Amino acid sequence: MDSATLFGWLLDKGFEVLPVTFTYGSKHNQYENVCAEMLVDYFGRIVDEKVQKHIKVDLSWAFKHSSSNLLKTGGEIPEGHYEDETMKKTVVPGRNLIFAATLASIAESNGIGNIALAVHSGDHAIYPDCRPEFIQSLEQTIHYSTDAKVRSIITPFLHKDKEAILKIGYDLTVPYEMTRTCYKDQPDSCGVCGSCTERLEAFRKIGKRDPINYANGGNNNA
Ligand SMILES: [Zn+2]
Repeated sequence: MDSATLFGWLLDKGFEVLPVTFTYGSKHNQYENVCAEMLVDYFGRIVDEKVQKHIKVDLSWAFKHSSSNLLKTGGEIPEGHYEDETMKKTVVPGRNLIFAATLASIAESNGIGNIALAVHSGDHAIYPDCRPEFIQSLEQTIHYSTDAKVRSIITPFLHKDKEAILKIGYDLTVPYEMTRTCYKDQPDSCGVCGSCTERLEAFRKIGKRDPINYANGGNNNA
């Protein structure tokens, strides 16, 4: 949802986008990747000249020895609210650090001066690699590591919550039916994990019905 909105936002601001997706061993990876594929297709059809070839990076090896319930190798996905202590089990140590380092390498290699991440304020409590101080220091590190060829990290949602992101996305007609948020390893979203709970809450707050399917026919947002 956040990445889809970021995609629409970047195109709306006139950026050319080189979309990059990662396979890293998470339980929901295969479902997320199908959505990413659809979104690249969708935005490519609307503004063909602005969307470059979709790069798919397999980073499963990099997280093979990492411990997280988000990963296939970890325990159950916790249910409940995002800010609950149990959601910390879904932190993948160093995930955004590794993603951003990979993006910086791709950007530098392709003569691209910026990378963009859809981190947002709802993630700050649980995920240290989504916080402003991390992004600030990461930007500096990437600046040094690329000899200033990659100058900035674009994070328009850093201080916005899910509700604000949805409002922006609806203004940009982002196709949310092509998005996946649930952390569980199942085709239909569960509606009860922290990630689903936060998503449904955001739709409820802006008075819209979430267009995706939920398991057991349950979209408690209807
Ligand atoms: Zn879920």
